[in-house]
Order: sequence, then C-alpha cells, then structure tokens
Amino acid sequence: MRRLLTGLLLVALSLSAGCPREAAPQDDGVLRVVATTGMIGDIAQRIAGADAQVTALMGPGVDPHLYKARESDVDVLFTADVVLYNGLHLEARLGDVLEKLAGHKIVVAVGAAVPADRRLMPVGSEGLPDPHIWFDVGLWRLAAGEMAAALVQADPAHAEEYRRRLAEVQAELDELDAYVRAQVERVPPEQRVLITAHDAFNYFGAAYGFEVVGLQGVSTAAEAGTGDVRALVDLIVARQIPAVFIESSVPERNIKAVQEAAAARGVDVAIGGELYSDAMGDAGSPAGTYVGMVRHNIDTIVAALGGAGQSEVGNGE
Ligand SMILES: [Zn+2]
Repeated sequence: MRRLLTGLLLVALSLSAGCPREAAPQDDGVLRVVATTGMIGDIAQRIAGADAQVTALMGPGVDPHLYKARESDVDVLFTADVVLYNGLHLEARLGDVLEKLAGHKIVVAVGAAVPADRRLMPVGSEGLPDPHIWFDVGLWRLAAGEMAAALVQADPAHAEEYRRRLAEVQAELDELDAYVRAQVERVPPEQRVLITAHDAFNYFGAAYGFEVVGLQGVSTAAEAGTGDVRALVDLIVARQIPAVFIESSVPERNIKAVQEAAAARGVDVAIGGELYSDAMGDAGSPAGTYVGMVRHNIDTIVAALGGAGQSEVGNGE
C-alpha cells in the first residue's frame, strides 16, 4: 500500500516537474491551500478569506502522529499551490511526502515561527522538540504570521487583504490568550495539575502555569506501560487530584486504566471531560474552530479541577 501510494505521488509529481509553480495548479484563478491539521486549516482559512480555498487533510478525531497520506490526499496535495504543516516532527509519517512536494510548490512548516528558546525539549524525546505548539495561544499567533507570509508569497496581489485579516485574527488570539489566563486564575494554584492520555499539553502548562502529566509520551506512537499507570496513580493519590482527562484523538482506554487503578487503591478520580488535543471538534460544533477548541479545553479543565466563581462553560461562541 505504502509503495503504491509513493508510486502514485511520484507519478503525480513527475507530471508537474518542469511546470513553473504558478502554472502547476488549475488555472481557475483560485489559490489552493492544503493544511495538514484542522488547527492550521482553520486559522489559514480565516486569513485567506475569499481569496483562497483551504482544505485540511486531517479531520476531527484524527491522530496526526500516526497519520499517513491516503490515496485521495495525493490529488489534493498535487493541485495545491501552498501546503502548510505543523512541523517539529508532528506529522511524522508525512515527512517523505512533504519533502517531495517542497521542490514543486510553497511548502511551509508553521512551527518554524517558534523561536528556538521557546521550543520544549521533553525528557526522553531523543532531541526532538515537542510539536504541540497550538496550546500556547501566543505561539499559535506566531504560527498564524507564518501562514499569512506563505499566502502573501503565493499570491502577492492580495497581500494587503491577507495582512489585514492576519491582524484581525491576531487580535482575536490576544483576547483568547487573556481569556485562558483569567480562567486559570479560578483554579487554586495547588490544583493546577493536568493529567491526560498523552503529553500534548506541555506548551499549555508552560504558558499558563500548569503541571502537565501525560500517560503516553509526546507522540502517541509509544505505548503506555503498567509502570506509567502506577506512577500516575501515585501522583493522583499524593496530590489529591480530583480529575483526569480523556482526549478526542487518543483512545479512552489508556486514561480509563488510570481511573480503574486509582479506584483499586480506594481513590475516586473523575473523568473531567474530553479535551481536544491533536484535532478539533466536528465542523459547526463549538470546538470546531481553533478558538472554540481552546475555550472548550480551558472551560472543561477549570470546571473539573474546582474552578471557583461563575462557570462560563458553553459560551464558546
Ligand atoms: Zn500529540
């Protein structure tokens, strides 16, 4: 299957070889942008407005660490003018495809916008940075700048529109960042511990002052072991943590195993709700946009960890 796909892609690319980049896509005047994740696609579409058509390859519930190019992706990628991906090794299994496309069109890793001194290097990641930058809204603001720059490069005639919409998006992200900070303040400092299925939330923790513990490593490609479960339960017992969280793109069984192991030791730990980690919610639902996803997550976390004051859950619109 993999060989067939690579073959198809190579055929597609060899057909386009020699074409100037401007001529490679359909000549209907529509700028075509392909994003890997929904979080990139959503922000890119906001910046693109009516001047470009943005398609995201990975829908709700899809795990980008494990995602491989499907046959139907080949067409989408081939006809694109611009390909935007997260990088920092998030799309580990698309690396070859992206590399091949890079010689033929504008291919941009939006994660390149994150300065080296703000990249997190988790222990045991063998020198690979943590790719989950979208959980620090300030960093995603930088990534949005990278998306806009790619659109301007591909379509300079609309540069002014792209820059104007980028400014609007960045203002909204500034507001979102302030909202997250205000919500975090409602959780007592000693309760600011986030336990999830995999290590997606380290940037969230670094930006907003949470201790973050994942059952699996930074990539879902690694399996959780029984020792990991025991260590997590020790932490839950010692710190009296009221809730753990499941993730939309990671199987529930991992975090449920933690809940069961805690119950076996007489400790009741709640499932605090579902967080959107590596994929957004369904289109049209409150978590179906990047802003809505971040709001859903912080509202869910604050409600489950004993946030004080009037709950604002459900006002993600
Ligand atoms: Zn992840």
